[in-house]
Amino acid sequence: SEKPLRIPPWLRIKLPEGRNFSNTSGLIGDLNLNTVCQSAKCPNKWECFSKNVATFLIMGNICTRNCAFCNIASGDLEPLDPTEPARVAEAARRLELRHVVITSVTRDDLPDGGSGHFAATINAVRAAMPGCTIEVLTPDFRGDEAALKTVLGARPNVLNHNLETVPHLYEAVRPQADYEQSLHFLKRAKELAPDIPTKSGIMVGLGENDDQIMKVLDDLAEIKCDIVTIGQYMQPSRLHPLVKRYVEPGTFDRYAEEGKNRGIRHMFCAPLVRSSYNAAEFV
Ligand code: SF4
Ligand code: SF4
Repeated sequence: SEKPLRIPPWLRIKLPEGRNFSNTSGLIGDLNLNTVCQSAKCPNKWECFSKNVATFLIMGNICTRNCAFCNIASGDLEPLDPTEPARVAEAARRLELRHVVITSVTRDDLPDGGSGHFAATINAVRAAMPGCTIEVLTPDFRGDEAALKTVLGARPNVLNHNLETVPHLYEAVRPQADYEQSLHFLKRAKELAPDIPTKSGIMVGLGENDDQIMKVLDDLAEIKCDIVTIGQYMQPSRLHPLVKRYVEPGTFDRYAEEGKNRGIRHMFCAPLVRSSYNAAEFV
């Protein structure tokens, strides 16, 4: 049977648990919110929180899908909480956030996929924090263009939707999703609101090869995606797929070059890059 690969030195990092970070946890604790930064034990949380960037997970922490790499449970869904947009806005205010990333589980059970709730959250944060930039990292809404229009209508500063992996691995990794549908979603976002930057990303180490990654970059350049993130997949628990390879830092630099050569304006590629990382640097 397969054995886990040895974790390379560039990923053996210490997580500083500084005072700023515990303050942050305390500040938002009583608002009963999920930040991805904390629940996913993100290795960048110290850096992001110190730069006043955080990612909120809205619409519950139970998903209608079950992607292989993801640590979020699927199961009985919770009804939407109409007070959530205001609570996210309040957290953004208390934390004096400069950039907010709003993401969600996939809610295939809701007629609008939760797009109205996304729009309400954008509107609430903007009203409370007019100077704060807002990035949404949305599900595919099963390709429903009305849902995409609802989100774009609230004018986020960045529209992010992750491809997550190469098309070849969708069946194994993102079984309820469709590569072409996700690509089309990003393409339509750019066409409907050309001035809103689009963003996408993949993880490496799930079994893809570099040629397949280059093809994804071709596709993203073709649809004029503005920002692309590529980071190392890390196994969230022993029940998740093993890491198939650890990509060396120099190879990530090459991915960035390749993306820029294809005309993608911003490439963020490094082992610890996460989809919401570095988000505040270019808006
Ligand atoms: Fe939070 Fe994203 Fe930063 Fe991780 S990379 S700490 S999830 S904002
Ligand atoms: Fe996780 Fe998103 Fe897949 Fe749901 S759709 S299982 S939240 S990656």
